[in-house]
Amino acid sequence: MNIFDLSYPELEAALIEMGQPKYRAKQVWQNIYVVLVGSFDEMTSLPKTLREQLNEKFQFGSLKTLVSLNSSDRSTTKNLFGLADGQQIETVLMTYDTRRTVCFSTQAGCAMGCVFCATGQMGFERNLTVGEIVEQVLWFARALKDQDDRLTNIVAMGMGEPFHNYDNTMAALDRLIDETGYNFGARRITVSTVGLIPAIQKFAAEKRQIKLAVSLHAATDDLRTALVPLNKRYPIADLIDACRQYTELSGRRMTFELALIANQNDTPEQAHALGKLVRGMLCHVNVIPLNPTTDYAGEKSNRERVDEFKRILESYGVTCTIRMRRGIDINAGCGQLRKTADIPVDSIA
Ligand code: SAH
Ligand code: SF4
Repeated sequence: MNIFDLSYPELEAALIEMGQPKYRAKQVWQNIYVVLVGSFDEMTSLPKTLREQLNEKFQFGSLKTLVSLNSSDRSTTKNLFGLADGQQIETVLMTYDTRRTVCFSTQAGCAMGCVFCATGQMGFERNLTVGEIVEQVLWFARALKDQDDRLTNIVAMGMGEPFHNYDNTMAALDRLIDETGYNFGARRITVSTVGLIPAIQKFAAEKRQIKLAVSLHAATDDLRTALVPLNKRYPIADLIDACRQYTELSGRRMTFELALIANQNDTPEQAHALGKLVRGMLCHVNVIPLNPTTDYAGEKSNRERVDEFKRILESYGVTCTIRMRRGIDINAGCGQLRKTADIPVDSIA
């Protein structure tokens, strides 16, 4: 059994079953989530016999680092992890100024099929477990700790659709937020969804402090359906309604994301339509020029188009940030994550 799959009560029950006093659960928990040990052997506050017992009974995580790549500007690290059943996922660390952001995966593959996304192009394999999600974040938290550094932001923007694996994603984030453990601030966590309306409504009702981002990509249904097949089921008007309800219920500003594709969704008409759609909402728009993927021929928007898009949105009072393309040389940019990285052999970890 993977130790990261256990909640605190489950860990306590397992240790009691092993004939241990209750307080051992607290020690093990703190070793994992506060000290950030990388193995049972490193839990030096525990008796050696207990460490051996733990080694026999549990796996200390299930991620095997198959490949670790650094972008040439050193800003981005991407790990390809193998899972216990042979599935592969990718996790990215971005370092920019004082920010240390980990971008984690929630599924092996993705069922949503957005045409411009490498994960969507590979199809759906399976949901990740709570432990597999938590461990991705802790892997980079540990690496940073070795350099006396720590994570500042956590984003569910890796492989998969977080709201299609809602319960495990939220349980993993709750684990990372838990004050007795890693104690990460919920306000510095963002979950990005392609627009599963029932899950957005559930998220709103739960009144979480975690931030919400919605990948919109287009302001008209015909174009959005061509890019994001899920739009057929949850069209734009309904999606925006759900988002508006979320902002009103939570009082929180949300983000709309668009990957700008030349002459598709980057036109002045699309910018005006988007401005009309979201004006007056407690929201912000993030645009990123499309990153290349093997199975999609669309090109990224050029700088002038992106600047004009931003200007038009701002004329509606909608704030807009142009996101930097990072980690493109190691295919670690938004929408470029997939199971088998195309990498030169000499850079394998
Ligand atoms: N499934 C979720 C989260 C993972 S994708 C979602 O879609 O929101 C993270 C972000 O990368 C999303 O905003 C997604 O639309 C964007 N993205 C996907 N493919 C991209 C590409 N080729 N270039 C730029 N951004 C892309
Ligand atoms: Fe899935 Fe998000 Fe990629 Fe769409 S953009 S296929 S929802 S990971």
